Amino acid sequence: MYIRPFDPWKSKLCTCPFKYTLNVYTGCDHACVYCYITSYIPNAFKVRTKKALLPKLEGELRKFDKRFIIALSYSSDPYPTVERKLGITRKVLQLFKRYDVRCLLLTKSDVFERDIDVLSELKCAVGITVTTIDETKARLLEPNAPLPKARIRALKKAEEAGIPVYARIDPIIPFYTWEDFEETLDALDFVSHITVSTLKLRPDSKKRMFAKFPELMGKLWPLYERGERIGGYYYLPRELRFKILREAEEKILGRGITFGSCREGYRSFPSCDGSHLVPR
Ligand code: SF4
Repeated sequence: MYIRPFDPWKSKLCTCPFKYTLNVYTGCDHACVYCYITSYIPNAFKVRTKKALLPKLEGELRKFDKRFIIALSYSSDPYPTVERKLGITRKVLQLFKRYDVRCLLLTKSDVFERDIDVLSELKCAVGITVTTIDETKARLLEPNAPLPKARIRALKKAEEAGIPVYARIDPIIPFYTWEDFEETLDALDFVSHITVSTLKLRPDSKKRMFAKFPELMGKLWPLYERGERIGGYYYLPRELRFKILREAEEKILGRGITFGSCREGYRSFPSCDGSHLVPR
């Protein structure tokens, strides 16, 4: 089965409503330093297509319970570099339209702009992840993803086309992306909902972070050593995490945008993942 119930990496802190997920591709070449899919997908930064995805998906969609949402995609990005040429995600969205499927899209690319014509005919909410508006930092953190300003420009176009839009500022990295939080929010002030999440490290992402940001990790890691270990992830100390989340919440709500947090044990309203924006 290509459509699967969303399994939040067994996190006991996940507050997502029940939903399904579909990974159009295996792997993701945006190659974010902090990415966690490398801990469970072999060769995760190499993108592979899936065998007979479209005919098999069509068979699954015929029987799919339309009350539920399908999220694209939580263990990859629906718009890796190759999607510009292959257009498989576009064909998936066309199938969603044919079968009247409710969809929650999340990407770190601007290529979805090409598909606004299809997305605007779907019961769909579109979101982008932006860790920081600072291009130099974004390039270091997400070397192959389109730059944040391009993602935001595309999202603005989706919003102008009447599509409900949201954003994730995830991960928030103390001493780094947290420094630009206000400017990042300024650039996203047209969205309806923002979900935030602090940096959670796995042994492999910790290794990549140390290799790329030795000075930053020299300051950060002692904090993580004092923090919690939840479901195989290193978390910041709860007190510091909640301080960051409270400040983020205040700044987001202050702009008339609703607030969500992801796998933090902290509140979210009306949803943690933006699923409340998907039309029924
Ligand atoms: S976009 Fe997401 S799945 Fe792709 S490398 Fe970055 S964090 Fe991993």
